[in-house]
Amino acid sequence: MKLDEKDTAILEVLLKDGRASLREVAARTSLTAPTVSMRLARMRRGGLIRGFAPVLDPSASPQVAAFVRLRVPAEKAGAASEALARLPEVEGVYMTAGEGNLLVRLGVDDLAEVETFVEDRLSAPSGWRVVSSDVVTKSIKDASRVRVPRAASLKFRCDYCHQEVRSDRPHSIRVGQTSHYFCCSTCRKSYASKHGGELAAARAKLRRTALHP
Ligand SMILES: [Zn+2]
Repeated sequence: MKLDEKDTAILEVLLKDGRASLREVAARTSLTAPTVSMRLARMRRGGLIRGFAPVLDPSASPQVAAFVRLRVPAEKAGAASEALARLPEVEGVYMTAGEGNLLVRLGVDDLAEVETFVEDRLSAPSGWRVVSSDVVTKSIKDASRVRVPRAASLKFRCDYCHQEVRSDRPHSIRVGQTSHYFCCSTCRKSYASKHGGELAAARAKLRRTALHP
Protein backbone atom coordinates (compact mmCIF):
# COMPACT_ATOMS: atom_id res chain seq x y z
CA MET A 1 0.00 0.00 0.00
CA LYS A 2 1.56 3.29 -1.09
CA LEU A 3 1.80 6.40 1.03
CA ASP A 4 -0.26 9.39 0.02
CA GLU A 5 0.49 13.10 0.42
CA LYS A 6 -1.08 13.22 3.87
CA ASP A 7 1.11 10.37 5.16
CA THR A 8 4.17 12.04 3.68
CA ALA A 9 3.29 15.39 5.26
CA ILE A 10 2.88 13.74 8.68
CA LEU A 11 6.20 11.93 8.34
CA GLU A 12 8.01 15.07 7.28
CA VAL A 13 6.90 16.86 10.44
CA LEU A 14 7.84 13.91 12.68
CA LEU A 15 11.21 13.29 11.05
CA LYS A 16 12.17 16.82 12.04
CA ASP A 17 10.54 16.70 15.45
CA GLY A 18 9.71 13.24 16.72
CA ARG A 19 8.20 14.68 19.88
CA ALA A 20 5.64 16.85 18.14
CA SER A 21 2.24 16.14 19.66
CA LEU A 22 -0.70 14.93 17.62
CA ARG A 23 -2.17 18.41 17.81
CA GLU A 24 1.04 20.03 16.59
CA VAL A 25 1.36 17.58 13.72
CA ALA A 26 -2.29 18.16 12.87
CA ALA A 27 -1.83 21.94 12.89
CA ARG A 28 1.27 21.77 10.71
CA THR A 29 -0.32 19.45 8.16
CA SER A 30 -3.82 21.00 8.17
CA LEU A 31 -5.26 17.64 9.18
CA THR A 32 -7.31 16.75 12.24
CA ALA A 33 -5.69 15.08 15.25
CA PRO A 34 -7.79 11.89 14.84
CA THR A 35 -6.69 11.67 11.18
CA VAL A 36 -3.04 12.03 12.19
CA SER A 37 -3.48 9.44 14.92
CA MET A 38 -5.20 6.97 12.59
CA ARG A 39 -2.56 7.37 9.90
CA LEU A 40 0.30 7.03 12.38
CA ALA A 41 -1.22 3.83 13.71
CA ARG A 42 -1.46 2.57 10.14
CA MET A 43 2.14 3.48 9.35
CA ARG A 44 3.32 1.67 12.48
CA ARG A 45 1.24 -1.34 11.74
CA GLY A 46 2.36 -1.28 8.10
CA GLY A 47 5.96 -1.56 9.27
CA LEU A 48 7.16 1.84 8.07
CA ILE A 49 7.55 3.48 11.49
CA ARG A 50 9.54 1.24 13.77
CA GLY A 51 9.53 3.54 16.78
CA PHE A 52 10.50 6.92 18.13
CA ALA A 53 13.95 7.37 19.61
CA PRO A 54 15.97 10.34 20.87
CA VAL A 55 18.63 11.69 18.52
CA LEU A 56 21.87 12.25 20.41
CA ASP A 57 24.14 15.13 19.53
CA PRO A 58 27.51 13.54 18.68
CA SER A 59 29.36 16.50 20.20
CA ALA A 60 27.71 15.80 23.55
CA SER A 61 28.28 12.06 23.39
CA PRO A 62 31.79 11.70 21.98
CA GLN A 63 32.44 8.46 20.22
CA VAL A 64 35.01 7.32 17.76
CA ALA A 65 33.53 6.37 14.43
CA ALA A 66 35.42 4.26 11.95
CA PHE A 67 34.73 2.67 8.59
CA VAL A 68 36.33 -0.69 8.00
CA ARG A 69 36.36 -2.10 4.51
CA LEU A 70 36.58 -5.87 4.25
CA ARG A 71 37.04 -8.46 1.57
CA VAL A 72 35.51 -11.79 2.50
CA PRO A 73 34.98 -14.77 0.18
CA ALA A 74 31.81 -14.08 -1.81
CA GLU A 75 30.06 -17.24 -0.61
CA LYS A 76 30.62 -16.18 3.01
CA ALA A 77 29.55 -12.55 2.63
CA GLY A 78 25.97 -13.18 3.75
CA ALA A 79 26.86 -15.05 6.93
CA ALA A 80 29.74 -12.66 7.65
CA SER A 81 27.53 -9.60 7.38
CA GLU A 82 24.95 -11.13 9.72
CA ALA A 83 27.61 -12.06 12.28
CA LEU A 84 29.04 -8.54 12.13
CA ALA A 85 25.60 -6.97 12.46
CA ARG A 86 25.12 -8.74 15.80
CA LEU A 87 28.18 -7.09 17.38
CA PRO A 88 27.26 -4.18 19.66
CA GLU A 89 30.05 -1.89 18.42
CA VAL A 90 28.91 -2.29 14.82
CA GLU A 91 26.49 0.47 13.81
CA GLY A 92 26.19 -0.38 10.16
CA VAL A 93 27.04 -3.20 7.78
CA TYR A 94 26.87 -2.65 4.05
CA MET A 95 27.56 -4.96 1.13
CA THR A 96 29.55 -3.11 -1.47
CA ALA A 97 31.03 -3.53 -4.90
CA GLY A 98 34.63 -2.50 -5.30
CA GLU A 99 37.86 -3.46 -3.63
CA GLY A 100 36.06 -4.64 -0.53
CA ASN A 101 32.70 -6.37 -0.45
CA LEU A 102 31.66 -5.41 3.07
CA LEU A 103 31.77 -2.03 4.72
CA VAL A 104 31.38 -1.84 8.47
CA ARG A 105 30.65 1.29 10.46
CA LEU A 106 31.93 1.19 14.02
CA GLY A 107 30.94 3.34 16.95
CA VAL A 108 33.31 2.88 19.89
CA ASP A 109 34.57 4.88 22.83
CA ASP A 110 38.19 5.33 21.83
CA LEU A 111 40.83 4.58 19.21
CA ALA A 112 42.14 1.57 21.09
CA GLU A 113 38.77 -0.09 20.65
CA VAL A 114 39.00 0.31 16.88
CA GLU A 115 42.32 -1.51 16.92
CA THR A 116 41.02 -4.23 19.21
CA PHE A 117 38.02 -4.70 16.96
CA VAL A 118 40.12 -5.06 13.83
CA GLU A 119 42.64 -7.37 15.50
CA ASP A 120 40.29 -9.54 17.55
CA ARG A 121 37.09 -9.68 15.62
CA LEU A 122 38.28 -9.45 12.05
CA SER A 123 41.56 -11.28 11.86
CA ALA A 124 40.29 -14.56 13.29
CA PRO A 125 37.94 -15.74 10.53
CA SER A 126 40.03 -17.26 7.79
CA GLY A 127 39.80 -15.74 4.37
CA TRP A 128 38.75 -12.30 5.65
CA ARG A 129 40.96 -9.42 4.69
CA VAL A 130 40.82 -5.88 6.04
CA VAL A 131 41.18 -3.66 2.97
CA SER A 132 41.23 -0.40 4.89
CA SER A 133 40.17 1.04 8.18
CA ASP A 134 39.47 4.74 8.37
CA VAL A 135 38.87 6.58 11.59
CA VAL A 136 36.59 9.60 11.27
CA THR A 137 38.43 12.74 12.40
CA LYS A 138 35.57 15.17 11.88
CA SER A 139 31.96 14.56 11.08
CA ILE A 140 30.43 17.16 8.78
CA LYS A 141 27.01 15.59 8.37
CA ASP A 142 25.70 12.50 10.03
CA ALA A 143 21.96 12.53 9.77
CA SER A 144 19.68 9.61 9.99
CA ARG A 145 16.91 9.60 7.44
CA VAL A 146 15.14 12.91 7.29
CA ARG A 147 13.62 12.49 3.86
CA VAL A 148 10.59 10.36 3.16
CA PRO A 149 11.66 7.96 0.40
CA ARG A 150 9.42 8.13 -2.64
CA ALA A 151 9.07 4.37 -2.75
CA ALA A 152 8.04 4.00 0.92
CA SER A 153 5.11 1.67 1.31
CA LEU A 154 3.10 -0.08 3.98
CA LYS A 155 2.83 -3.83 4.23
CA PHE A 156 -0.19 -5.39 5.86
CA ARG A 157 -1.19 -8.93 6.54
CA CYS A 158 -4.82 -9.93 6.27
CA ASP A 159 -6.38 -9.94 9.73
CA TYR A 160 -8.29 -13.08 8.82
CA CYS A 161 -6.04 -15.35 6.74
CA HIS A 162 -2.68 -13.62 7.52
CA GLN A 163 -1.60 -13.53 3.90
CA GLU A 164 -0.02 -10.37 2.58
CA VAL A 165 -2.51 -7.73 1.48
CA ARG A 166 -1.46 -6.74 -2.03
CA SER A 167 -4.10 -4.22 -2.99
CA ASP A 168 -3.44 -0.49 -2.72
CA ARG A 169 -7.03 -0.08 -1.54
CA PRO A 170 -7.43 -3.01 0.84
CA HIS A 171 -10.74 -4.17 2.22
CA SER A 172 -10.95 -2.89 5.77
CA ILE A 173 -13.06 -2.52 8.86
CA ARG A 174 -12.49 0.57 10.94
CA VAL A 175 -13.33 0.95 14.59
CA GLY A 176 -12.40 4.42 15.79
CA GLN A 177 -8.74 4.87 14.89
CA THR A 178 -8.01 1.17 14.58
CA SER A 179 -8.26 -0.43 11.17
CA HIS A 180 -8.40 -4.09 10.29
CA TYR A 181 -7.20 -5.01 6.81
CA PHE A 182 -8.19 -7.92 4.61
CA CYS A 183 -6.88 -9.42 1.40
CA CYS A 184 -10.34 -9.93 -0.08
CA SER A 185 -14.02 -9.37 0.61
CA THR A 186 -14.48 -13.00 1.69
CA CYS A 187 -11.90 -12.59 4.47
CA ARG A 188 -13.53 -9.32 5.49
CA LYS A 189 -16.93 -10.99 5.72
CA SER A 190 -15.57 -14.00 7.58
CA TYR A 191 -13.80 -11.74 10.08
CA ALA A 192 -16.92 -9.63 10.58
CA SER A 193 -19.07 -12.66 11.31
CA LYS A 194 -16.48 -14.24 13.62
CA HIS A 195 -15.66 -11.06 15.56
CA GLY A 196 -18.94 -9.19 15.10
CA GLY A 197 -19.59 -9.10 18.84
CA GLU A 198 -16.18 -7.63 19.70
CA LEU A 199 -16.42 -5.03 16.92
CA ALA A 200 -19.86 -3.94 18.10
CA ALA A 201 -18.64 -3.74 21.70
CA ALA A 202 -15.61 -1.65 20.67
CA ARG A 203 -17.88 0.70 18.70
CA ALA A 204 -20.31 1.02 21.59
CA LYS A 205 -17.44 1.83 23.94
CA LEU A 206 -16.18 4.52 21.58
CA ARG A 207 -19.67 6.04 21.42
CA ARG A 208 -19.91 6.07 25.21
CA THR A 209 -16.53 7.82 25.61
CA ALA A 210 -17.52 10.29 22.88
CA LEU A 211 -20.70 11.15 24.78
CA HIS A 212 -19.04 11.24 28.21
CA PRO A 213 -15.40 12.08 27.60
ZN1 LIG B 1 -7.34 -12.90 3.84
